[in-house]
Amino acid sequence: MKRLMLGNEAVARGLYEAGCGVVSSYPGTPSTEITEHVSEYQEVYSEWAPNEKVAAEVALGASIAGARSFCAMKHVGLNVAADPMFTASYTGINGGFIIAVADDQGMHSSQNEQDSRHYAIAAKLPMVEPADSAECKNYVKAAFEISEQFDTPVLLRLCTRVSHSQSIVEENDRVEVPLKEYIKNPQKYVMMPGNAKGRHVVVEQRCKELIQFAENTSLNTVEYAANNEIGVIAAGITYQYAKEALGDSVSYLKIGLINPLPLKKIKEFASKVKKVYVIEELDDIIETHCKKNGIDVIGKELFSNIGEYSQKLIAEKILGKQTEFAEYNENIPVRPPVMCPGCPHRGMFYTLNKMKLTVSGDIGCYTLGAAPPLGAMDTCICMGASISALHGFNKARGAEDRTVAVIGDSTFMHSGITGLINITYNKGYSTVIVADNSITGMTGHQQNPTTGKTLRGDIVEQISIEKVCDAAGVKRVRVVDPNNVEELEAILKEELAVKEPSVLIARRPCALLKYVKHNPPFKIIAEKCKSCKACFKIGCPAISMANGKASIDSTLCVGCNLCKPLCAFGAIAEQGEEL
Ligand code: SF4
Ligand code: SF4
Repeated sequence: MKRLMLGNEAVARGLYEAGCGVVSSYPGTPSTEITEHVSEYQEVYSEWAPNEKVAAEVALGASIAGARSFCAMKHVGLNVAADPMFTASYTGINGGFIIAVADDQGMHSSQNEQDSRHYAIAAKLPMVEPADSAECKNYVKAAFEISEQFDTPVLLRLCTRVSHSQSIVEENDRVEVPLKEYIKNPQKYVMMPGNAKGRHVVVEQRCKELIQFAENTSLNTVEYAANNEIGVIAAGITYQYAKEALGDSVSYLKIGLINPLPLKKIKEFASKVKKVYVIEELDDIIETHCKKNGIDVIGKELFSNIGEYSQKLIAEKILGKQTEFAEYNENIPVRPPVMCPGCPHRGMFYTLNKMKLTVSGDIGCYTLGAAPPLGAMDTCICMGASISALHGFNKARGAEDRTVAVIGDSTFMHSGITGLINITYNKGYSTVIVADNSITGMTGHQQNPTTGKTLRGDIVEQISIEKVCDAAGVKRVRVVDPNNVEELEAILKEELAVKEPSVLIARRPCALLKYVKHNPPFKIIAEKCKSCKACFKIGCPAISMANGKASIDSTLCVGCNLCKPLCAFGAIAEQGEEL
């Protein structure tokens, strides 16, 4: 049967059809839906791991045990999983092992832009890159075959536009792949120096064999145009952009196996056209490969190494063709990213801003606390960095009484715990706020070890943040409702005044969780409103100005009561409240 599928859904389908046995991932946009869709297949064991390193290690362990295995992450997640990945290149695999990495060109939802192809080169691993949903499914199967043929993990590179676009996929039956026999082999799987030295030789030999494979694999395809004027070398989404912009007027070398690159094939292609363009987002990896081997190509002198490309850009750069647009003559209001109405983090950031604290922030939906009008975040580096960076900040400046770290519940489990241990171990006395909204918010409500549910919704032991903090040696652990801003401020003052580590768990479930009950919407009494805009300080998207007065959108307001105390004129009222 043929179905329209997201690229990520097609990857999941490929895992199912290819007989994959174990999947472990950490959610990260744009990779998250792969694992969510895998969980729909009962034949495949799937789980959320607390971070990408753990996920990769679980999948590698399953591979060594003989199962086809898989883990998925976003590009920055691969930084976390890089440690086991580099050594997995040496151990090789038993059952086929795929690591999917979804790059986020254009930083739709990421703290940096990075080109994961560098990891494939550095770790000496084959990498495949699909261009649409059908290829997402087929490349998973091909990747398992490469993995088992060459005894290597294989990287599957995705990007936002492939992961989140839909195209037709043909569904096939699952092929049951029995567990491979596990044979004890410490020389292969115990990477102490004596064994690792031997394995490095194996890795280099494998690289040579993979180069041969790259020349002949059907993953790299050529399409010649009727004329020989222009040739385009592209991979993944840039191939799609180029096809749409240039059609059949040019020739294409579409690279599906992105590492290692085929040299003979590229040379042959380049010899048959007058001009060769390399179209690759981010870094100049194919271009450099060509140029260092004496192949004359045009690349980054035309195309930027920043952000995403488009059909329009390619038509403009190669054909000099300008796209015509119809002008829209009205100003469209700017819509800055804001926290949702009723967001439990709003009261917390409002308080931090009011107290003029220096805030070491972290990755999650609460990163929006950095945006105006809350503007209550000073730094945000990477998952888990809030706590460790605050410790460093305080060690450098001795400014512990005006600084806090803010980290979410899922991020705390991901990599915040080690930073907290570092504070107690190294005699720090920083104050950490765990913003516990009882879910992994930013990626779309995934479970995590603190929620008491697995990926499939099974009820399990709920990891207690309080007990983890206690075990880390933190004596002062307090829980507060972030919507109770007075109590929050009072507790924060107390904790900042003591010279010992403290954790404040700001606990209130995400306003978008289905089980969360909301109060009736609040309203503005226009006659009392003085248009002072004090209620705008909390940045609730339900509040706006209309006809010179504040106004509350009753379809957005969840009656959280944060705005009411801000109005000195009593103009904000609950439903049914007497005027
Ligand atoms: S704080 Fe009160 S008076 Fe001021 S704009 Fe808002 S509703 Fe009007
Ligand atoms: S009560 Fe006020 S702050 Fe809360 S959601 Fe409604 S308008 Fe926004």
